[in-house]
Amino acid sequence: MNSQFRHLPSVDRVLSDERIKQLEETYPHILLVNLVRQRLEHDRLSIASGNPCPSIDEIVESISAQVYTLENPSLRLVINATGVLLHTNLGRAPLSKEATAAMDTVANGYCNLEYNLDSGVRGSRYTHIEQILCQLTGSEAALVVNNNASAVLLGLTALAKKKEVVVCRSQAVEIGGGFRIPDVMRQSGAKLIEVGTTNCTYAADYEQAINPQTAALMRIHSSNFRLMGFTHEVTFEELATIGRRNNLPVLDDLGSGCFLDTTAFGLDPEPMVQQSVAAGAGLTFFSGDKLVGSPQAGIIVGRKQLIDKLKKHPLARAVRIDKIRLAGLVATLIHYLKDEAVTKIPVWRMISATLEEIDQRARLWAKALNGLAQVVEGESMVGGGSLPGGTLPTRLVAISGKGKRKSQSMAQTLARRLRNGEPPVIGRISDNVLLLDPRSVLPEEDEVILQALRDLAASSEQTQ
Ligand SMILES: *Cc1c(COP(=O)(O)O)cnc(C)c1O
Repeated sequence: MNSQFRHLPSVDRVLSDERIKQLEETYPHILLVNLVRQRLEHDRLSIASGNPCPSIDEIVESISAQVYTLENPSLRLVINATGVLLHTNLGRAPLSKEATAAMDTVANGYCNLEYNLDSGVRGSRYTHIEQILCQLTGSEAALVVNNNASAVLLGLTALAKKKEVVVCRSQAVEIGGGFRIPDVMRQSGAKLIEVGTTNCTYAADYEQAINPQTAALMRIHSSNFRLMGFTHEVTFEELATIGRRNNLPVLDDLGSGCFLDTTAFGLDPEPMVQQSVAAGAGLTFFSGDKLVGSPQAGIIVGRKQLIDKLKKHPLARAVRIDKIRLAGLVATLIHYLKDEAVTKIPVWRMISATLEEIDQRARLWAKALNGLAQVVEGESMVGGGSLPGGTLPTRLVAISGKGKRKSQSMAQTLARRLRNGEPPVIGRISDNVLLLDPRSVLPEEDEVILQALRDLAASSEQTQ
């Protein structure tokens, strides 16, 4: 028997420590007992593999630290200075004031989510949003679910289970995080028939794939990648014509989905939802939290007869949207209805920010860094699988250590200091320089970021 085991205190011994007793004034006894047991079990395994027994102080301190970690949510606000406006790892679209207010309102009490106030009987949660979506997109009907992946899954399950769906080979994409659209689609039980070659697909490829087993034709937005050089794709209008001729619905996974013309902001054209509906899509699927700028949601617009099938499908219940996000989505869509999206919805405020405004803010940020930084030209990315390769010109604050040659470790040290701040500020490192982009930071966050930058400058003075 390893003699170190004898030094390990008992559960009662740790619980009777003054510091743990103090924790008991705030936290339930049972929680502390569990934490002590888990910690001692961990120590037994550690001793068994040859490590020395920890002191009682080490044990008690680790338990206090664990209590602290448990009660401080690890999910918190961060400042996105990466220049990627729809950053999936940073929670995608920030919300408008009106959207968060609407969410707060329904969260604070009951609401008529599925209750008809006129008749006093059960209603449908979709009535709160269907008319707005039809107005905005010109569609006959609409439905919202948990996210776009579940929207596509629901659509294909309801319309194409055990049947075939024809897709273009170059559109069978992976959208990041290892998620592949074809894998999600296959979960529906539909068989994907890929047509064309990697770079070229023609109308005849679709026509030849159609047989009595075919349930639908589908377009998928190529998301984060772009075909270049010798390429050919069938336009969505052509695909819709093939669908009509063969009496098959054409489904359209737009990915981000967009109501505004991106070329008006100097960006590449992003397919708009209205265009998809006008071209004759049976169903159009898109995300709420990409370019639409709402909370996470999957939005489906299209022909009433098809939307009705989806609404009635049991899977609709499994992927339904909750009242809080529904309220946020409605409030966001109202901005488009009132033609105020560009001034109210954060992602569109960022896209439409002028280079002059950004330059001015970048100079203020650089000044707060007290000689540690300079303003340089750069590019912001929209991200979120929209506008593949599309960027917006911006001004970046390039931070390098004072008087030192730029180095990877210096850039990483600076990035870590900003990440560990309160709130954390996230930048990006390029060519051994830490870059901060004001475009992805809302002007109302400038006060906070300026303080973080002053702190960084002060701490760098000390470590010179
Ligand atoms: C982002 C994306 C999805 C998934 O949308 P979520 O809302 O994240 O579920 C599906 N298809 C395409 C083409 C996308 O870009």
